[in-house]
Parts: sequence; C-alpha cells; structure tokens
Amino acid sequence: MTTPLICNNYINGEWEGAASAATLESRNPANKHEVVATFPRSTATDVDAAVSAARQAYRSWRLVPAPARAEYVFRVGELLSKYKEELAQLISREMGKPLVEARGDVQEGIDCAFYSAGEGRRLFGQTVPSEMPNKFAMTVRMPIGVCALITPWNFPIAIPCWKAMPALVCGNTVILKPAEDTSACATKLIEIFAEAGLPPGVVNLVHGVGEEVGKALVEHPNVDLVSFTGSSETGAEVGATCGRTHKRVCLEMGGKNAQIVMEDADLQLALDGAVWGAFGTAGQRCTATSRLILHRDVKEKFTTMLKERASKIRLGAGSDPNTEVGPIINERQLQRVNKYLDIAREEGATVLIGGEIAREGELQHGYFFEPTILDNVTPQMRVAREEIFGPVVALIEISNFEEAINILNDSNYGLSSSIYTRDINRAFAAMRDIEAGITYINGPTIGAEVHLPFGGVKHTGNGHREAGTTALDIFTEWKTVYVDF
Ligand code: NAP
Repeated sequence: MTTPLICNNYINGEWEGAASAATLESRNPANKHEVVATFPRSTATDVDAAVSAARQAYRSWRLVPAPARAEYVFRVGELLSKYKEELAQLISREMGKPLVEARGDVQEGIDCAFYSAGEGRRLFGQTVPSEMPNKFAMTVRMPIGVCALITPWNFPIAIPCWKAMPALVCGNTVILKPAEDTSACATKLIEIFAEAGLPPGVVNLVHGVGEEVGKALVEHPNVDLVSFTGSSETGAEVGATCGRTHKRVCLEMGGKNAQIVMEDADLQLALDGAVWGAFGTAGQRCTATSRLILHRDVKEKFTTMLKERASKIRLGAGSDPNTEVGPIINERQLQRVNKYLDIAREEGATVLIGGEIAREGELQHGYFFEPTILDNVTPQMRVAREEIFGPVVALIEISNFEEAINILNDSNYGLSSSIYTRDINRAFAAMRDIEAGITYINGPTIGAEVHLPFGGVKHTGNGHREAGTTALDIFTEWKTVYVDF
C-alpha cells in the first residue's frame, strides 16, 4: 500500500492548507483500507481568499491577448500528455475505473486543451451592416469574470478540463471545487496548471465538502459564473441560489439514457453498445445506458446474448489490466445501488443476472456491485425513471417504433440516447423525435467527442452545452459595439 498523498489548496499561486486544521481523506474504492490522499476541509474563509485572488488576477488576465492565453492552455495540454500515464494510474486508484478508461479520461483533457487553445485565435464575433451611414456595427465576445467550477468524481480529469480550458482562453479566472472522492486527481491537475506557468490567481483550487465549500462559492457575491456538473438534486439547489444571487449558471446533471433495439438491428453491434453503455465505468456515467428498449421480435434472442456476455464481465481493481468493470465510488453509492435492487424486486421486476453486492475474494475489500439486468420492467417503475448510477440496466419490451420513441421520451431526463436499426427512415425520424441532447444512430449512448456540443434537455441541463464552440457561449458575454466615423 502506498503512502497517502497530502493535498493542499492552491490559492493565488501558493499551495497552502485551509484556515481550519480539519482534514478529509479519499480512499481506493477497490480497497477501502487504502487511503489515497488527505486534503483540507476548507471553509468559507478559504473560499473568500480564493475569490479575492481570482478577482485580482482577472483584472490583468482579461487583458492578456486571447492567443497568448491560449498558449498557456496549449502548454497545459502538453504537460497532460507528459503526465498521462501517472494521471491515469492515480484515477484508477482514487476513482476505480479500469486503466484503459482512465487513460481515456486524461486524453479527453488533452484533446480539450488543444481544441480550446485553437479558439484563442478565433473567438469570432461578427461585423454586420449598420442602418446608418458612416457607422460600423459589430459584436465581440467578452469574458464573464470569476468562474466557480464544481465537478463530480466520475471523470476527475476530463470534466474539470472541459470547464477550465475554454474558461481560461475566454479570459476568465477560475476556482475549482472538485468532488471529495477525487481530490488527489484534482490536485495533480492543478499542479500541471501551475507548472504551465499561469499567473497567480488565474487558477485556484479549494478542497472540501460540497455543502460547505461548494455552497460558499455559489453564494459568494464576487463569483460571476458557476459551472456545475453533478446530480440533478444538487444542480437544482445550485441553480436556485444562482438565480437569487444573479449569477450566470451552467448545469450539467443526471441522465436516464435509453438504447432502442429495433427488430431489424444488427444485434451483435447493438450488444456491444449495450454491454459497454450499461456496464462500462460500472454504469457511473451520466450517459450510461440504463434502459434497453427492445422490440418484441428480437427481445428474447438479444436478452440471451446480453445475459451471456454480461455474466462474463470481469470485476476488479482499476489498476488490474484484466479488469473490465471497476468498483462503485463509495459505500454510500454502493448502498444506493443496492437499495434500487430492493425497489426493483418490490415493483415486480425480475433480476436476470447480478443484483447483489459482489463479495468474493479480493472484491470484499472494495465497493463492487454485480452487473445486473432487470427484466419485466414497465416504464412507470422507479427503476425505469430514476438515475441509479450503477451497473444496472432495465429491459423494456415494445412492439413498434412509435412506442419505442414515446417510452424513451417519457423521462424527466434528456441527455443521451441511441437507436439500432437498419431502416434509414426510422433513423432520421428518431434523430428528429427523440428528446435528448445527444442521439447516436447504431452506436451506444456513450462516446462523446470534445469538439461537439455536450449536454441535455429537461432535468439534465439548463440550456447550455459544454465542449465545442458552444462552450464559448457559457464563458463569454456578447457585447455589441457601434462605431461612428
Ligand atoms: P453531486 O453529489 O451532485 O456532486 C457534484 C459536485 O457538487 C461535487 O463536487 C460536490 O461536492 C458538490 N456539491 C455537493 N453539494 C453541493 C452544494 N449544496 N452546493 C454546491 N456544490 C455541492 O454529484 P456526484 O455524485 O459527484 O456525481 C454524480 C452525478 O453527476 C450523476 O447524477 C451524474 O449523472 C452527474 N453527471 C452529469 C454529467 C453531465 O455532463 N450531464 C457528467 C458527469 C456526471 P462533494 O463531492 O464534496 O459532495
């Protein structure tokens, strides 16, 4: 077992403990006895210090030409590439995902850095004709100010990068409040920003509890924007506070994503999509497939194929190269998933495989849940409507395309979606009629690319899209300029 890392806050270019001496720790979810890191339990005093550093730095950072700001971000991308393997190992230890997925998590951060750096030479506005003679009319993008970035644990490098890279290129300063469970990953990431030579105060890190540090940031009068990714419950609270305190807010929240398999689908392709969409990252992705909507003509055959494949999935520690699916993040979340199995049984669903906490051998030391398939699920059951965030997929039978689309849309969430069909007309109709931010045709509900808009409708989001050029709309204000001459 390795010695726990000691993590600190990063405020105004200095690594320091919190005002209070209290500390917290993160543990390896594959082995709860292993403490990965200790970090400060910060308070509103530390938030105040970070906000004033970010506010001070903003005065000069906003005036640094965007191509020069982008060069810092490009350098962060280079350093992320240099430390990719070290970061991936740390993600696997602290968050539990298999190394291959952990490398993908870092790669998203790298891609996002290089993509966002390119925007430093664009940040396009428009020049439009004026109604008046001797007058130019144009629009320019202006930074927002001090941005609080509040992030979850499931993509501990990618998600902070999705937010920080465009925010910085656009001329904002940032304060990261990472999830408690992945504080070491956040610390390593901010070390990389520091090594890239960003001026003091431009990037800050405050560790701590969401209800304390997160809340203090959201309420702080000198924070201009909150970019939040997490559960819909917390997001609603964050959104309400931002409304009360007149802040711009970008919310990326939960999902209850469905994959439709029609009777004419390539079943092998649909199987690959379903297995990794449902069980990859132990189902702990906002885009995870948690409902499989299956045409009755192929349901039996597809279910047999799925059962056979899913029952062979190798559970284990993220660091073990043989692991296909890692642990659940913590005890609380493990019990939450387990509770949903009780609910499923009470509601009349049938547990086809899995359904239990995995306790064999080494697995007993971690938070493992067996890959689980629930059959005989009806659209009204809680397991078909609520986000479980674990390796649990519900099978729902349909008899035609319209029914499939209606059931997919009958959800409070609207993040990702997928349909497997060989019928081009149905594919286009699905693209048009599905109520979700992302639709895959003949692909799983997972696999977003960093240069395309990412986000959802209904309770999943509040109208913003991260990634791609749409991220610029979060992190800039439009200014209209008229020039008489
Ligand atoms: P969470 O419990 O809502 O926490 C998210 C972040 O908010 C954490 O940093 C948390 O800090 C902080 N927080 C908690 N309470 C807060 C409060 N009152 N005020 C301000 N901040 C607060 O979510 P999670 O369990 O970390 O992540 C899983 C959820 O994220 C799932 O619902 C998943 O679907 C969603 N997600 C969405 C997307 C997307 O792009 N749509 C992507 C990934 C994940 P602590 O860690 O200290 O509690």
